[in-house]
Amino acid sequence: MNNSVRNFIEQKTLTDKVCVVVGVGKSGLAAARLLTVVGARVRIVDRNEAVTEDKLGELAGKVELITGPHKKEHFSDADLVVFSPGVPVPKLADVLEGLPTERIVSELEFASWFIEAPILAITGTNGKTTTTTLVSQILEDAGRKVFTGGNIGTPLCQHVLDNEAVDVVILEVSSFQLQNCMTFKPHVGVFLNFAPDHLDYHADMDEYLDAKLMLFQRMTGEDTALLHDSLRNTLKDRGFTNAHIEWFGPEDRFEIPYLPGEHNRSNAEAAWQAAKQFGVTEAQAAETIRNFKPLAHRIEPVGEKNGVLYVDDSKATTLDSVVAAVRTYDRPIRLLMGGVWKGGDVEAFAQEVKDRVVHVGLFGGSRDILEAPLSQVFPVSWDETLEDAVNRLAEAAVEGDVILLSPATASFDQYDSYVHRGNDFKQAVEALS
Ligand code: ADP
Repeated sequence: MNNSVRNFIEQKTLTDKVCVVVGVGKSGLAAARLLTVVGARVRIVDRNEAVTEDKLGELAGKVELITGPHKKEHFSDADLVVFSPGVPVPKLADVLEGLPTERIVSELEFASWFIEAPILAITGTNGKTTTTTLVSQILEDAGRKVFTGGNIGTPLCQHVLDNEAVDVVILEVSSFQLQNCMTFKPHVGVFLNFAPDHLDYHADMDEYLDAKLMLFQRMTGEDTALLHDSLRNTLKDRGFTNAHIEWFGPEDRFEIPYLPGEHNRSNAEAAWQAAKQFGVTEAQAAETIRNFKPLAHRIEPVGEKNGVLYVDDSKATTLDSVVAAVRTYDRPIRLLMGGVWKGGDVEAFAQEVKDRVVHVGLFGGSRDILEAPLSQVFPVSWDETLEDAVNRLAEAAVEGDVILLSPATASFDQYDSYVHRGNDFKQAVEALS
């Protein structure tokens, strides 16, 4: 156990306090385990009535589990409420009414109370996972011991429980996790870009931006904020941080054979500038960047048939990430889009990509939002399933075209996740004659 955990136990900071964890996912369970270690009385609440004690693992019998609709009485005696990432806290205002805001924290905030290593945190609308993975690799290749997690992989609470000493804690952080953070402060914070997203969750773009900026709020002159050039206007006059600020953008500094597109030159630059803060040299970063392979479902070429290239960019869930993918190819593009809409300006998007896109094949959800504005600019078809849409585009395609799955949406209308959607695309491509 690390010193911070020991202090919590010795000083009885949370001993016998009523702590409510919302959400029985990986992060919620890790938070509940850490809370029991520091002696809290833990109640886990989850809206899903199908959740049973089996899901609790080693916590079964040690914590109270309540499932079904959230009620005020589940929270009214709470000394602390810890939210799993993704739980829409603003939508729970009714049941949380009367609780002081400092008692309502995200899993990230709670875990950070126990972190002793310097934190490198990466946020932005697009490119978080790519950049986080890349900078982790750079630091590891340069001999640093790192923990990488947060929004991806292992929850931060689990890292605390594992008690492995590291040189740097690297976190991919979403706007959801940054809301309800009061003390969390990275040593280095990276803001990759900002574009419409999650407008089904945040009240508006301003609230979404405020959530992102929480990352920088408590940083001091000893800390460094790395901000993308495209944010200069957005952040002008905002007075959002006391950190030392450095700007970055797409440079030609590195050879990046496997990560295509200008956006990835920005991501690589962000990763290098961040790694530099931890003593890595440019030559060390260059070596890792040269060898770094793209992550699955992010502009991932999956095959070439009859001179037509098929590309899986299923992870593109915003219009901005679709623009980045389209700009990657200097070839006519037949674009597959559709799924659960999260917001964005479709007309402006159509103007941005009209030079390269020759056909849009819609599939599944959001036809009502996409079809009319896109039809003003492109030939548009619609199919119920991705497979049918792939077949239709493949039939129409000519040598030299790219068929790009870059859907601009979440996948939950027909799939469990973007991974499932991307794999379905790969199968449909394999099945083509
Ligand atoms: P995140 O974790 O923020 O969702 P990922 O690295 O998983 O980011 O990439 C998600 C999508 O965004 C992919 O389609 C990828 O090609 C695209 N993308 C990656 N970096 C950027 C960027 N800097 N600007 C715009 N789109 C990007």
